[in-house]
Amino acid sequence: MMPLDESDCAATYKVLVVGEHSVGKTALLNRLMNREFRVSMMPTIGVDFVKKIFEVDGALVQLVIWDTAGQERFRSITRLQYRGVQGIVLVYDVTNSQSFTHLQFWINSIHSEIRHSQHQYEPIPIILCGNKADMADSRQVDTRRGEKLSREEMAFEFYETSAKTGDNVFLAFQRLAYHVTDICDPKLMKSYHPFMIKQEDMSHKQNGDSVTPKRKQKWKAKKAKVGHSKLPVFPRSLCCVSQQGS
Ligand code: GDP
Repeated sequence: MMPLDESDCAATYKVLVVGEHSVGKTALLNRLMNREFRVSMMPTIGVDFVKKIFEVDGALVQLVIWDTAGQERFRSITRLQYRGVQGIVLVYDVTNSQSFTHLQFWINSIHSEIRHSQHQYEPIPIILCGNKADMADSRQVDTRRGEKLSREEMAFEFYETSAKTGDNVFLAFQRLAYHVTDICDPKLMKSYHPFMIKQEDMSHKQNGDSVTPKRKQKWKAKKAKVGHSKLPVFPRSLCCVSQQGS
């Protein structure tokens, strides 16, 4: 069978991997690309980006996944990098509680940068990953803290991952690909109901509106529920939690 390439994909999306220094962002990308896992004392410079094709609900989509390793120490992930981002993997290290408490910084920066650079209506899906889950003996962050944060604050899904063993790595990115497609191009998905397409297309014509009304309504309702201070860039109701090994 011929290997897939990007011309086989129905869509390409830009996603970003963010989090504190040394949490394993580059290691996760290397694992995703089936590269060898290496323990290194040197900080990684990052890999720029990798491309990976996923099958989501009958559609082939490509993620172009940007690594921010090397810049996070200077808190210098710029507006430019956030531009056009359609999904985010937010990483902390379960053996480093500071990397968990600093997530708030990242959440705030994602909120403000994305709000500035994209006047978009749809939410940006975020997958929260507690990495280095293989290091049980040096764990500092309990699984429940990750679950709680993802439930209360932002994330669509939470996984404990290990770039060393590969646990949940593919799954985390696969789920991100799913959510991005669901938000950006739901009609590519097999499960998208034709009745809904019809309804949308008709009311679309009536309103002369550029955002599909059903989806708009859905997010408006959520926005009203959550209140303005917590704009539902990451709607809570879509959270579902999965632990390592479950
Ligand atoms: P980055 O700065 O966030 O990109 O972090 P790196 O990918 O450079 O990883 C920092 C260090 O943590 C490296 O020595 C990696 O080998 C190690 N590391 C990354 N992920 C894991 C993991 O899941 N398990 C273990 N045991 N070590 C990891």
